[in-house]
Amino acid sequence: MVMLHQLPRLHSSIFFTKTPFLYTHFNLLPKPKLPTKTTSTLFSALNSTLSTTSEPIPIPTHNLDIPEETHVPISIEKLFVPPDTDVSSDTPASLSTRILKGSNIVLSKYARDAQVSQADFVKSSVDTQACPSDGLPEFALVGRSNVGKSSLLNSIVRRKKLALTSKKPGKTQCINHFRINDSWYLVDLPGYGYAAAPHELRIDWEKFTKDYFLNRSTLVSVFLLIDASIPAKKIDLEYASWLGENQVPMTLVFTKCDKRKKKKNGGKRPEENVNDFQELIRGFFQTAPPWIMTSSVTNQGRDEILLHMAQLRNYWLKH
Ligand code: GDP
Repeated sequence: MVMLHQLPRLHSSIFFTKTPFLYTHFNLLPKPKLPTKTTSTLFSALNSTLSTTSEPIPIPTHNLDIPEETHVPISIEKLFVPPDTDVSSDTPASLSTRILKGSNIVLSKYARDAQVSQADFVKSSVDTQACPSDGLPEFALVGRSNVGKSSLLNSIVRRKKLALTSKKPGKTQCINHFRINDSWYLVDLPGYGYAAAPHELRIDWEKFTKDYFLNRSTLVSVFLLIDASIPAKKIDLEYASWLGENQVPMTLVFTKCDKRKKKKNGGKRPEENVNDFQELIRGFFQTAPPWIMTSSVTNQGRDEILLHMAQLRNYWLKH
């Protein structure tokens, strides 16, 4: 499979020299862009079953307006343009309607079938070999303990307690698979950086999660959760840079973006922490990784994460 982040990206600066910034708050509704002649030809050339069975791109019906100060200006070079997506004919205004709200992610023609209608816990595995072998695509959620991983998982599947399954004794150190709509998996990986864990155990988790990242052939993207209510932590930066260096496809999911009060240590707002984090890991990535701001309290980013997962998944299924 082609690594998503390695795919050639459009040098949008060529096209947008006068307007170098887009603002994510323009993106109130991620609208499907009708394929241009070129892209539609490309699309029909693909032996597509999706094009006949899938629904139109779901547009989030609720309009979760982020407070004014959370709007993050994004330069075009920092956008994540999914593979097989043409933005060359877009004006800044039309392109801005295709960016998922609170993110740097451009919506592609593969963003369909994003709804979750069924979610079932399937299996806890102790290593990569023991994971399900049915070949369905999967996304792995990982992050520091207490980052809000269980809350986000529950919010994504709209089930209050599904993620509790992974918190049961004996399962916290496992790879936990949840099957969605009988067609793909959300995978809950052990939290890292848990201070109380014995050193040997921590090393062990690291070994097996790294093995999973490098060898799980059905892994479409890691979703690395970062707490946006606090300044970047060394361990998170190390994790992100390791994924970048090893060219493991990664999406940064910033959690707790509803926490807007200034904090003693640094006193930065979520969007500032989000920007700082990008800057600190920039050198480890050939192109900007996708990122998205979320809150399990307000459900900010929920629909957007699902659309992003859908477009990565549908592209992956085709290639
Ligand atoms: P996990 O250890 O990563 O699974 O984290 P949890 O989902 O258990 O959440 C850890 C703590 O953070 C809990 O007290 C949650 O209520 C809180 N939390 C999780 N997500 C959010 C969020 O989006 N906003 C706020 N304000 N608190 C959150």
